[in-house]
Amino acid sequence: MELARIFLANACDAAPSGRESIVTKPMVSPESPALKALTRAVKGSVVLPGDGDYDKLRTPWLEVMEQHPALIVEAAGVEDVVAAVDFARNEGLHLGVMATGHGIAAPCDGLLLRFAKMNDIVVDTKRNIATVGPGVISSELLDATEKYDLIYPAGQVGNVGVTGYSLGGGIGWLARKLGVAADWIVGANVVLANGSVVRADEVDNPDLFWALRGGGGNFGIVVSLEIALTPLAGVVGGELYYPLERAAELLRFYRNWSSQLSNETSTIFRLVAIPPASTAPSEIRGQTVCMIGVCHADPKTADAVLEPLEQLGKPLRRDVKKRSIASMAGLDPASHSAGAPAYGQIEYLKDFSDDVIDGLARLAQTMIPPIMQFEVQQLGGALVGSSTERRGAFEPFSAAYLLHLESPAMNATLAEIAIATTDAFAALGDVYTGEKYYNFLRADELPHIERAFGEEKFARLRQLKKRYDPSNFFHLNLNVAPAERPSAEASGVRTPAS
Ligand SMILES: Cc1cc2nc3c(=O)[nH]c(=O)nc-3n(C[C@H](O)[C@H](O)[C@H](O)COP(=O)(O)OP(=O)(O)OC[C@H]3O[C@@H](n4cnc5c(N)ncnc54)[C@H](O)[C@@H]3O)c2cc1C
Repeated sequence: MELARIFLANACDAAPSGRESIVTKPMVSPESPALKALTRAVKGSVVLPGDGDYDKLRTPWLEVMEQHPALIVEAAGVEDVVAAVDFARNEGLHLGVMATGHGIAAPCDGLLLRFAKMNDIVVDTKRNIATVGPGVISSELLDATEKYDLIYPAGQVGNVGVTGYSLGGGIGWLARKLGVAADWIVGANVVLANGSVVRADEVDNPDLFWALRGGGGNFGIVVSLEIALTPLAGVVGGELYYPLERAAELLRFYRNWSSQLSNETSTIFRLVAIPPASTAPSEIRGQTVCMIGVCHADPKTADAVLEPLEQLGKPLRRDVKKRSIASMAGLDPASHSAGAPAYGQIEYLKDFSDDVIDGLARLAQTMIPPIMQFEVQQLGGALVGSSTERRGAFEPFSAAYLLHLESPAMNATLAEIAIATTDAFAALGDVYTGEKYYNFLRADELPHIERAFGEEKFARLRQLKKRYDPSNFFHLNLNVAPAERPSAEASGVRTPAS
């Protein structure tokens, strides 16, 4: 995905004007015996405000989200994670869990747990299973598996954490073929709120295993994740760029072409402003353009899939070739940069109708640039239900396409562009299903979190949260509150464990 999307809107929740300084309270005295004991016990490092690495470690990928934790634990192993959990619980501190900071939902003022030192990857080519530490990012796992012609269902950018992405669902370029990454989790070792370490798979704690596959970081801290791999020796994919003026015609073509494709192919349509930077391709540098992105999983049949695109004439730029999934993810500029301030919203289309196309074409003429960019992403295929039997908490989509509007905060505040984005969605009419997807939820959408799971699954998740984390210790996240407790978001209070 192009910019920093939704996640910046998470920040908007915390910092309506784009940046908000949070007053740091010295919640943990450097002289405290408990802190000294923690520092002795931890094999990684304990970092306090004023220490050399503190600013680097507290800063999420989403830089607009300011947080000033009382301390940061850079865990080097499971024992460090347990020590950090015990310390936060005993000292009454909020616990924040951050691998990369792409999905941070609330700033942490207590103990921030980081995993850069837990980045082991073991690829078992006999069982086709990868075991990853919580610090592993997507490009690292793909680098380790693709040399064996194996892949996991990675997302569309390379620098997202494998564990956070997979726990929340995980929709990438192969989702129509393989379903979500959560479907491919086969086991996990988890540190629970009480500090115990448990196994979750089909045999041990199957309920917890179910909850982890789509319910995010609500149930514990995953200290190693096992994910099944699929044989795949590269894809044919990439991007084709066309002039903005052709938006209406291209959208129609895109809808008709993409809706006929098999599950082997995933596509997106994007309207995007290419920066004037010298690193941008010269043919499109500084222009606002339409982009069709495609990823086809079977190189032998790629020509037939791509052939209809010839009808569109010569694109401004064509970069479609045989490539790895890591290279597909590398096409997205977000894979190589920190998150710039922007406001994003995602809705799911009931129908990719002519009315929607006309509305988007109008937006293209009136709102873009510089206010807004948009992306239509194709869903369907295995995201609908073909692998339902292996599914956990992730709820399949009914929509065949999602619409993502994104506004970079250039000459406007996040609050102003939030209004413009909401208006733009409303202008298309009653065309949305209302469903949500956990990984793409903004923090201010938490009141609608049930829509990501449906009533039945959400009720089950809340019961499991009550069983595994009754005090809602893991609450600085897109929070599923324990059954019979008000959600932290709804009550307006983010409570530490009681
Ligand atoms: C630019 C960008 C592109 C994205 N592209 C996609 C995409 O293509 N498909 C998609 O499905 N999603 C995508 N996302 C969403 C992304 O998957 C979520 O934001 C996800 O939560 C990121 O996980 P992280 O660990 O990298 O982020 P973090 O901010 O470090 O973590 C987010 C949350 O994940 C949980 N978490 C992380 N690690 C652990 C752990 N070891 N144990 C327990 N909980 C943990 C915690 O609740 C934590 O607060 C994208 C996000 C961004 C910003």
